[in-house]
Amino acid sequence: MSDYDYDLFVIGAGSGGVRASRIAASHGAKVAVAEEYRIGGTCVIRGCVPKKMLVYGSMFAEELGHADKYGWTIEGATFDWNALRSFVMADVDRLEGLYGNTLSSHEVELFRERATIAGPHEVTLASGKTVSAGTILIATGGWPSVPEFPGNDLCITSNEVFHLEQQPKSLVVQGGGYIAMEFASIFNALGTEVSVINRSDKVLRGYDVQIVERMLHIAMERGIDFRMSCEIEKVERDGDCLLVHTGTENPIRADQVLIATGRKPNSEGLGLENVGVELAGNGAIKVDEYNQTSCESIYAVGDVTDRVQLTPVAIREGHAFADSVFGGNKRTIDYDNIPSAVFTQPPLAGVGMTETEARSQYGGVKVYTSDFRPMKNLFSDHVERGLYKMIVDDTSGKILGIHMIGPESPEILQVAAVAVKAGLTKQAFDDTVALHPSMAEELVLLK
Ligand code: NDP
Repeated sequence: MSDYDYDLFVIGAGSGGVRASRIAASHGAKVAVAEEYRIGGTCVIRGCVPKKMLVYGSMFAEELGHADKYGWTIEGATFDWNALRSFVMADVDRLEGLYGNTLSSHEVELFRERATIAGPHEVTLASGKTVSAGTILIATGGWPSVPEFPGNDLCITSNEVFHLEQQPKSLVVQGGGYIAMEFASIFNALGTEVSVINRSDKVLRGYDVQIVERMLHIAMERGIDFRMSCEIEKVERDGDCLLVHTGTENPIRADQVLIATGRKPNSEGLGLENVGVELAGNGAIKVDEYNQTSCESIYAVGDVTDRVQLTPVAIREGHAFADSVFGGNKRTIDYDNIPSAVFTQPPLAGVGMTETEARSQYGGVKVYTSDFRPMKNLFSDHVERGLYKMIVDDTSGKILGIHMIGPESPEILQVAAVAVKAGLTKQAFDDTVALHPSMAEELVLLK
């Protein structure tokens, strides 16, 4: 019998926290989880999932635009933001229910309130109740980071964008990362006039430069207005609109301003100072490779540790933590060759080293590319081109990275990532017969 109320108390029921709770419970641990907002966390409630549904919703604009070439006459097609928003929110409710069922079916006790740390083995709930636990896991995720400027309270973040009462006719997006590019693309496709304000001349740092350039070219052709090396100085209300001052030109008039300038670890006010949990300068909880903090009984996984801010990574960390601490299987996770994608239109995706990274780390590198017009676009007057790149170590022939932009590229890249992870060579791709006609066949025909 344990001396504690619970073997494990998890703070935060997002991707990492729910996985850790479920696995620890299945290993026989008595588990409780506290969540102050909704079960599911950022990904399910206000991130990946509702975002992807907005992407799907916005893709109809393009599909309908080409439909006549394929013989379809679609009369009176209109778009209703409220209908899409309600559909998305209903699915978020459904998924939240499923996450809740997962917890209850594993007999994980749920406290729908904020929890803070009172001691190495003690958690205080917002209701005032204090409970004890042998191990505490912090899985509180991240929160949008908003730069200081007058009028930033008039702006929205990715937390609010899913709940807008109306589709903005005009939108200013600040930032050049995932969220900025994805929402600029969604609203542009839906017919909103979109301007992107980015503090440098680079967007999507970390992605292959050539692929990002292609994305920018297409986005500009589609009508997104990019203001590079530019920052918001002030936002003020002007009647129903907002005026965005950048200091370099006339203010931009917009219905909404979306700030997408990164997410900071959600570690404030958790009582970490009570137990000597060390934080990095940006508030990230420092952990070792087993997700253990500087306080022996406290662990952390997911975005609050700011290692790789991706849902599947948080899930793996939560699972590895539970196996290590409660399953008698102490293990770490492998952060090499994590595939990722940006769901712009068209989307881009990558795994492994970019060309720049490979050239700086390897002596000789060969780059194979295919710059092609997707067949789907050939049938219409769409001139956008896809671009696939494979970066190969010249000596061994081993693939170091694959990067692509084009329709469905995340779907294709997930499979290609298996080959990169497995250490396959370019020859293995050359030896594979093309599946014709497809876009993915370009990968085995790279020159
Ligand atoms: P990102 O880290 O991707 O990008 C932040 C952007 O904001 C960069 O362009 C950065 O510029 C800029 N920026 C940072 N600080 C400031 C500032 N003070 N003033 C002006 N610009 C600033 O963050 P996001 O918010 O887009 O996304 C957060 C995280 O969520 C991502 O890192 C990603 O891991 C995850 N995510 C993943 C998605 C996916 O997998 N498809 C989708 C959405 C989010 P600079 O480059 O100069 O630093």
